[in-house]
Amino acid sequence: MAGLLASRDTRVLLVKGNLIQALPPDDHGRARVAYLTPPEPLPEGVGLYLGSSGGLDYVGLVVDGGDLEGPSQDVDWVSLREVGGHLGERDVAVVASATALAVWHGEARFCPSCGAPTRVVHAGWVRRCTAEAKELFPRMDPAVIVAVTDHADRLLLARAQHFGPGRYSVLAGFVDAGESLEAAVRREVGEEVGLELGRVSYLGSQSWPFPRSLMCAFEAQARGTDLTLDTEELAEAHWFTRAEFAAAIADGSVHVAPRSAIARSQIERWYGRALDLP
Ligand SMILES: [Zn+2]
Repeated sequence: MAGLLASRDTRVLLVKGNLIQALPPDDHGRARVAYLTPPEPLPEGVGLYLGSSGGLDYVGLVVDGGDLEGPSQDVDWVSLREVGGHLGERDVAVVASATALAVWHGEARFCPSCGAPTRVVHAGWVRRCTAEAKELFPRMDPAVIVAVTDHADRLLLARAQHFGPGRYSVLAGFVDAGESLEAAVRREVGEEVGLELGRVSYLGSQSWPFPRSLMCAFEAQARGTDLTLDTEELAEAHWFTRAEFAAAIADGSVHVAPRSAIARSQIERWYGRALDLP
């Protein structure tokens, strides 16, 4: 790590919890990660080796809060949620790993079995208990996110209780211990809106380090259309035709997830084209 942090071929990303430093999107909507290049001075921090690409090594440096100066005044601390939709694929992967690891390091300072302090080994990918040989690995929590349609190909969108007014999304929930992803999809949809599902198909996945989810995306067809809401979780849920959805987006009564979120691509997949929104 010391060698990497001294090499001109290393790009260093400062990480603070799930925030990284980036330059805001330019006029073309492209954002840039604000990498530091040795021998630029670097703050103290836990080094995370994030991989190499195009002859360069990428390293995350987990720093404590404080008022750290960025490489220039234009730099903001931002999350993957804000900036992910404006970054290229390599930078999304770098930022997702860096922030997922940084959040984990913040929570894994003590051994869960004996309570002794842990220390960082293996370039930031393992912590070892200082009292026993036990090694701790970063973990992710699997969650399912499902675009449910009915026999007429209407999409179900719901507003969670913790969402602001007008903010809708597809249904999502964490996978229970001992459960398969498919079973989690059927259980969540049953619990949240009372629908039984027919076909359930896997679409893809996304690391979502808020704080450590692995979002597994599905689409499914409901057997009925009558909704029975779990009102502790959901404020409302409605079926949308494409015309109704387009009108609701246009008049601002419905807002959806940012481009960086997999929910957005599920909604656009159903809609048939990308939305002209951030
Ligand atoms: Zn221990």
